[in-house]
Amino acid sequence: RAKSAGGNRFELADPEVDARTITRHGLTTALPTALARGEFFIEYQPLVHLADGSVSGAEALVRWTHPQHGVLGPDRFIPLAEHTGLIVPLGRWVLEEAVRQARDWQVKHADAGPLRINVNLSPVQLHHPGLVADTVEILERIGLEPGALCLEVTESALIGADDDLLKPLRRLAEMGVDIALDDFGTGYSNLANLRRLPVSVLKLDRSFTQGMQRYPVDPVDLKIVEGVVSLAHSLDLSVTVEGVETGAQAEQLRDLGCDTAQGWYYARPGPPDRLHTLALVDATG
Ligand code: C2E
Ligand code: MG
Ligand code: MG
Ligand code: MG
Repeated sequence: RAKSAGGNRFELADPEVDARTITRHGLTTALPTALARGEFFIEYQPLVHLADGSVSGAEALVRWTHPQHGVLGPDRFIPLAEHTGLIVPLGRWVLEEAVRQARDWQVKHADAGPLRINVNLSPVQLHHPGLVADTVEILERIGLEPGALCLEVTESALIGADDDLLKPLRRLAEMGVDIALDDFGTGYSNLANLRRLPVSVLKLDRSFTQGMQRYPVDPVDLKIVEGVVSLAHSLDLSVTVEGVETGAQAEQLRDLGCDTAQGWYYARPGPPDRLHTLALVDATG
């Protein structure tokens, strides 16, 4: 479905296999009504400034409490939601919830600095004509400044994207919304291509920085990360690293010039009040 939109190279992860697995678990029948039944919820994972360890914001990660199967992660149902089209209202719901949460943090913890919110965007949402209008409407109604929102789009969704697909992202970027290239390093990375994308953040995928967890770290791995960071900075992109699991890794990535980090070393995704605590701890030293 999503693939048909002219010339874009993204593909959904093997739809047939996903559909089969999901059908077996009876997700197909429960998904369409899940939104109306209020079965989705969001966990927030903090993003941290590597320079001083302070919390800069959080990424919103959706979960589904399935009536029979319990809590399911997004990898289990996002592909199905994309194929059925539910991703459009679901994505809008996630955006609204997350923006409301960010606004709430800002009001309650003004002293913790301007906390920002990252929300994942499916390639299917990019094709939906209401994306820009919905986003503007939500930000205005809730009263969050566009600069506090970062929309994450995967590298595979954008590499090779034509201008029609980039247009809504350009408009959002012009309004001050940050666009992040998510899971960078997992797709067909054409680094020169970065220049034509309206992105301001590069999110290095966990697989990309996994070598940093080994000891001793392979010097070639270090060189690669160093090179990508310097290229990103020369293009005025800030660099976020995903999947930081150890303190040694965090230190190394900071020394290599990465700006922001996210991972189990700091915190696993969790309920919004956890971020209140983290931000407050930082604000008060
Ligand atoms: P992502 O955007 O790359 O999110 C990061 C994933 O890495 C999350 O998995 C997070 O829980 C996990 N993670 C974070 N730190 C660590 C770490 O230190 N080690 C390891 N091993 N993993 C870590 P999660 O929550 O299962 O989400 C998976 C993917 O589902 C996300 O990848 C994102 O692409 C997608 N997703 C999540 N929420 C949404 C949503 O609201 N809309 C859309 N379209 N996609 C979503
Ligand atoms: Mg993401
Ligand atoms: Mg990611
Ligand atoms: Mg990733």
